[in-house]
Amino acid sequence: MHMYDVIIIGSGVMGMSVARALSEHSVHVAIIDRDIPGMHASYKAGGMLGAQNEFTQESALYHIARKSQQMFPTLASELLDEVALDIEYLNSGLIKINASKADAHDIQLQYQFLKQYNDQIELLTDSRLCELTNDKVMNNGKQAMYIPDDHQVNANRYTKALLESIKRRNVERCYHTEVHHIESLKQGYKVKTQNGSFYGKKVIVAGGAWSGRLVSPHLQSHNVTGVKGEALLVEHPTLNLNTTLFMTNGCYIIPKLQHRYMIGATSYFDDYSVGVSSVGRDWLLHQASTIVPQLKDSQMLHEWSGIRPYSKEERSVMDEVAQDLFVITGHYRNGILLSPYIGALMCEWLLTGQRPEDLQDFRIERSVDNAMHY
Ligand SMILES: Cc1cc2nc3c(=O)[nH]c(=O)nc-3n(C[C@H](O)[C@H](O)[C@H](O)COP(=O)(O)OP(=O)(O)OC[C@H]3O[C@@H](n4cnc5c(N)ncnc54)[C@H](O)[C@@H]3O)c2cc1C
Repeated sequence: MHMYDVIIIGSGVMGMSVARALSEHSVHVAIIDRDIPGMHASYKAGGMLGAQNEFTQESALYHIARKSQQMFPTLASELLDEVALDIEYLNSGLIKINASKADAHDIQLQYQFLKQYNDQIELLTDSRLCELTNDKVMNNGKQAMYIPDDHQVNANRYTKALLESIKRRNVERCYHTEVHHIESLKQGYKVKTQNGSFYGKKVIVAGGAWSGRLVSPHLQSHNVTGVKGEALLVEHPTLNLNTTLFMTNGCYIIPKLQHRYMIGATSYFDDYSVGVSSVGRDWLLHQASTIVPQLKDSQMLHEWSGIRPYSKEERSVMDEVAQDLFVITGHYRNGILLSPYIGALMCEWLLTGQRPEDLQDFRIERSVDNAMHY
C-alpha cells in the first residue's frame, strides 16, 4: 500500500496551486480529478484579478486578495519560463459603473472604502469616463469609479500553465477518477474512488462547487453550492476599448488580446447544468450593448459556462475539518485571483502543521460575510 504525503481532490486552480507550491519541497503529492482538464470553472473564468472591485469593506479576504494579486507579475513570468505559456497578464484597470440608480450610492461607498488603501482610485466625471473608454461608453449620467490597478489574466491559459507546471514537477495526476468517500484511518486517510483506493497522510478537498458533497457533515452550515455562470467571447476589430467595464448588475466586458472582448457573466444558483441558454446569451448581449452600443456589431466567437463554488454569504472556507483533512472552497467569483496566495498559504500549513496567520479567519465556524449581491 503506497501512502502519499498529500492527496489533493480537485484539479482546478485551487488544487493545482497547492500542488505546485508543495512541489518545491520533497513532498509526494497526488492530485485526483473525476474529469479531464479543461472542463470546470478554473478554465472558464474571466480572469479578472479584482482585488479591489470585489470588495466593499474591511475583511481578511480583502487583504489576502491584495497580496495574491501582487503575486501575478512574478508568477506570469515564472510560468512563461517554466512551461512557455503566456498567461496574458494585463494591467487593464477596471471601471465600475452603476446599472441602476439605486447602485450609484453603493459605488460611492465602495470608493470611500477602497480610497483608504489606494489613492489612485477615482470617481469619474462624464468627460473622464469618455476619455478612459475612448468615447465608447453610453453614459447617460452614470456613476462610475476607476480602479487603475485591477489587472487580469487569461484564466484558461493560466489554468493550463499550472497543469503543465505540475506535470513537469512530477505531481502524480489521476483523471477520470471520481472520489466517492474519504475514510479516516489510524494514520492518514483512505480515499475511495471508482478506480480503487488511494492512501494519504494528509488530504485536501479542493473540489470547487462539489466540495460539500465530499465533506458534507463539515460544510453543512456553509451550504456550499454551485452558481452557474455563462460567458461570451466576441471580436470587434475597431472598438478600441482597453479598460474592463464592470456593471453593478454583474455584467462585465473584459478587453482581451487581438480585439477580443469577453462578456460575462450570468449567475444561476444551485444550477450545475452545462451550456449557454438563449436567455443568458440575450441578457449578456443586451447588457453589454446597453453600455457599449458598438458591441452590437461584434462577431461572436465562442460561448461557454462554468460552475462557481459559492458558500453562504460568500464565506471562503480554508480549514482543517478533521486531523489532517483540509478543505478549500467557496472562492466564488475570485478563485483565479486568490489561487497563488492560497496555494502558498496551504503549502505552509501542510509543511509546518501551523495554520498561517492569514488563514485564521476562514475556519468553518467563524468566517465573515463578504457578500456582494448582484
Ligand atoms: C463564468 C465565470 C467567470 C469567472 N470569472 C472570474 C474572474 O474573473 N476572476 C476570478 O478570480 N474568478 C472568476 N471565476 C471564479 C473562478 O473560476 C473559481 O472561483 C475558481 O475557478 C474555483 O476553482 P476551484 O479549483 O475551487 O474549482 P474548479 O475549477 O471547479 O475545480 C474543482 C475540480 O474538482 C473536481 N472534483 C469535484 N468533485 C470531485 C470528486 N468527487 N472527485 C474527483 N474530483 C472532483 C472537478 O472535476 C473540478 O475539476 C469565474 C467563474 C466563472 C464560472
